[in-house]
Amino acid sequence: MPTPSDAAFIPLADALADALGPAVVSTDPADRERHASDWSGLQGSRPRAVLRPRTTEQVSAALRLCSAAGQPVVVQGGLTGLAGGASVQEGEVALSLDRLAGVEAIDPAAMTMTVKAGTTLAAVQAAAEEAGLFYAVDIGARGSCTIGGTIATNAGGIRVVRYGMTRLQVLGLEAVLADGTVLSDMGGMLKNNTGFDLKQLFIGAEGALGVVTRAVLRLQPAPRARATAWLAVADDSSLITLLSAARQRLGSSLAAFEAMWPGYLSAITARGPHYRAPLADIATPAVLIDVFGDDPAATDADLRERLEGFLADALEQGWLNDAVIAESIYQSRRLWAIRDEAPAEYSTLFRSSKGYDVSIPIGRMIDAVRVLETALSGAVPEAAVLIYGHLGDANIHVVIGFDAPVEKAVYGRVDDLLYGTVRDFSGSVSAEHGIGVLKRQWLGFTRSAAEIATMERLKAALDPSGILNPGRVVAAPS
Ligand SMILES: Cc1cc2nc3c(=O)[nH]c(=O)nc-3n(C[C@H](O)[C@H](O)[C@H](O)COP(=O)(O)OP(=O)(O)OC[C@H]3O[C@@H](n4cnc5c(N)ncnc54)[C@H](O)[C@@H]3O)c2cc1C
Repeated sequence: MPTPSDAAFIPLADALADALGPAVVSTDPADRERHASDWSGLQGSRPRAVLRPRTTEQVSAALRLCSAAGQPVVVQGGLTGLAGGASVQEGEVALSLDRLAGVEAIDPAAMTMTVKAGTTLAAVQAAAEEAGLFYAVDIGARGSCTIGGTIATNAGGIRVVRYGMTRLQVLGLEAVLADGTVLSDMGGMLKNNTGFDLKQLFIGAEGALGVVTRAVLRLQPAPRARATAWLAVADDSSLITLLSAARQRLGSSLAAFEAMWPGYLSAITARGPHYRAPLADIATPAVLIDVFGDDPAATDADLRERLEGFLADALEQGWLNDAVIAESIYQSRRLWAIRDEAPAEYSTLFRSSKGYDVSIPIGRMIDAVRVLETALSGAVPEAAVLIYGHLGDANIHVVIGFDAPVEKAVYGRVDDLLYGTVRDFSGSVSAEHGIGVLKRQWLGFTRSAAEIATMERLKAALDPSGILNPGRVVAAPS
């Protein structure tokens, strides 16, 4: 079905305003500008209109009308996505979930929270904490990203090593299909083997198969005790030995295992006192570890003693040069700032930069990083290469930064080299940020032709006119 022209959009805009109320539909230039682009750096176009529904029924009515008119729609949460999926393409309407927000209920017996999709991750975490519980997903964008966005991208973050990705936290889901059909599976049951588990289709689909409107989230017991340690690792080979030992010695209390390679450490710690490394030694990789104690009798002192025992052994084995345990929550936050807040610095650190988010099978990680570093220093010797990430999940982020603006072709060369290495090491071209539009051409490096064809068949079945997030993840049906 052809997309309506700008002139043909006017009757649709009127029909949308009639059905949803004028407050939900905005064609104001400032609103359209605000909803043009996400965090990925992909400059979006101004949407034809911004729809900001407050209810599932309004989402359904909006999609029904857009579907009937062949009007492409891009779904937006907090616009913190890094794959360009929420950036607007020419002629699209933006459907923002930001007003469909709020925690509906917390069930302490079932340990679940029922929440609307536009609620920020930080608000969900705070509500869980207030109820004496814990929501396990945590990412740096927590203050702006929405639960719907984290479900749509199956967000990972710093706690995956212990609790898994967003998919494991979703016990119930409500989603609206492109034609306005509402699929509601909000029972929140852990066990429900009655046919296909349709909610799984929408988790990680980046809005290409439906719009997430509500969810039932699994909550966890709140950690009773916590400890954070900074480890100066002896060399890169020791990283994997250390991870394996930490898993065995610290067991399920291991709640974060984040690695930072020397290039990252020198660039970030030079940013000023806020990012000062706790140990002078930054010539070898560093690791940030969190441990949580769930036992009601657990104390910070017990946990610390356990961590100290592990670190003493690791020092004796020669895996570490040194280590320090945070003495207070304040110190723990200072350590985490070096890892968590640094991405906000890239725009001031470099004139031009690009980030990559990849998985490599853990046993091949160190070799892959060495190959990458050597290849990048040959291909773009003028670039800074920052490598860090969720090593506990075999997921690293690579940032390539330049002191001067660079031609697009340079990033093309880096893409080829980086994703080629990932393919050679049987990794994934997106560990957690998703494919969106920016990584579509690389999807075949990680997924087989049969898998991609099946994704396209699912897309065609659920969105036959291809109006929902067209061109994201897979091609829209022709
Ligand atoms: C500083 C920073 C740190 C980050 N750290 C991490 C990290 O550690 N781990 C990680 O996994 N990610 C991380 N991210 C990226 C992450 O994908 C997003 O922050 C978050 O998951 C997206 O949520 P959002 O509400 O902003 O979605 P948006 O950016 O608005 O959208 C992202 C995608 O989801 C779709 N979408 C949004 N809402 C819905 C909905 N309700 N229904 C259907 N589709 C929808 C959009 O169309 C788009 O394709 C980080 C981003 C930033 C800026």
